[in-house]
Amino acid sequence: MHYFEYKNGELYAENVKVADLAATYGTPLYVYSAATLRRHFEAFDSAFEGIEHITCFSVKANSNLKLLQLLGEQGAGMDIVSGGELFRALKAGIPADKIVYSGVGKRTEEIEEALLAGILMFNVESMGELERINAVAKDLGKVARISLRINPDVDPKTHPYISTGMKKNKFGLDIEQSLLAYKAAAEMEAIEPIGIDCHIGSQLTTIEPFLEALDKIMAFHKRLTEAGITVKYLDLGGGLGIPYDAEEPPHPTEFGKAITDALAGTDLTLILEPGRVIAGNSGILVTNVVYTKTTPSKHFVIVDSAMNDLARPSLYGSYHLISEVAPKGRPEKNVDVVGPICESTDFLARDRDLPDVEPGELLAVFSAGAYGFTMSSNYNSRARAAEIIVDGDKVIVARKRETYRDLVELELESIEG
Ligand SMILES: *Cc1c(COP(=O)(O)O)cnc(C)c1O
Repeated sequence: MHYFEYKNGELYAENVKVADLAATYGTPLYVYSAATLRRHFEAFDSAFEGIEHITCFSVKANSNLKLLQLLGEQGAGMDIVSGGELFRALKAGIPADKIVYSGVGKRTEEIEEALLAGILMFNVESMGELERINAVAKDLGKVARISLRINPDVDPKTHPYISTGMKKNKFGLDIEQSLLAYKAAAEMEAIEPIGIDCHIGSQLTTIEPFLEALDKIMAFHKRLTEAGITVKYLDLGGGLGIPYDAEEPPHPTEFGKAITDALAGTDLTLILEPGRVIAGNSGILVTNVVYTKTTPSKHFVIVDSAMNDLARPSLYGSYHLISEVAPKGRPEKNVDVVGPICESTDFLARDRDLPDVEPGELLAVFSAGAYGFTMSSNYNSRARAAEIIVDGDKVIVARKRETYRDLVELELESIEG
């Protein structure tokens, strides 16, 4: 469900014509709908209202400051994976005690920054990291609250590049090693274990893997309690999928019910780290057709957005729905929608039936609100797209379009002497 709708044959973002936004701000252009974002957050968060919980938006899905601020106003906490994301979350006004810090490679400076900010907890992914956090906290005269990230070894049945909770993945600690790790943590001077964490993957379209992981985690929690270590938080990570194409992921309400039912009778505070399910369908990428081209074997629609703007199709072979901003009812043709970058993997869609569009027309690439702009780069010295947030009639420039000057700013000194 989202607020990008056609009215009188034209695509709108809430009350604003997408074509008007493209005329004012140019393309490629990310457009987010604030109402959609709020609705998704509310739907997710209220699905867990039967249980103490904090919904921590996964900043890596969309780290735009204004967007984080909007979510913060709804009561969201944040799940971060770097010092840069901590900086953004704090700038956006997110209370530090609603921030959890995940990731396998936290550097000493990043640990210091998070301790000084006073985040709720670190989700620790190795013994080396645990020892490092203990040492850094001791130096600062602080106590670090931590969860250990358990790898429950379940198959999330998603794309292999976004599955994280299987034995072969780099994430978390093996469940058998974890009991010893908790015992070691409890002995450390500057460490306070307060939770258990897991995150098994992304774009999951069924509830079963979550329940399977929860089962293993709860069995582990029991062993932990028996060993005299009591924790308050259970962090279940993110990962709930969205419909990009024909997927039918469970509704957050159904997901919430299954999890809260499974946790009935415990007094754990649940932490959730949704990213995609909040932001994914809250954003589109608007692009202009530059040329059309027909070779003996294929039709191409060449657009002004590329893999540097939206990497998911080239990275994972992901599907994104592409539609005209102003549909004209023309017959369809099977095409590849490609960008100007000098790589054959630079495509937004392959073998797609699209109306016979012409240069100068606008296309909307849907479900681009998560892992869209955040994965963008300057490859081929392409300035990155602007980001717009529409809120009812209001248009907010959430990030200006980068300029050529921005591209070289950090290098100029070297040639100007
Ligand atoms: C990426 C990530 C998330 C968010 O995943 P989604 O699939 O976007 O919900 C949550 N937690 C951790 C630790 C992550 O790495």
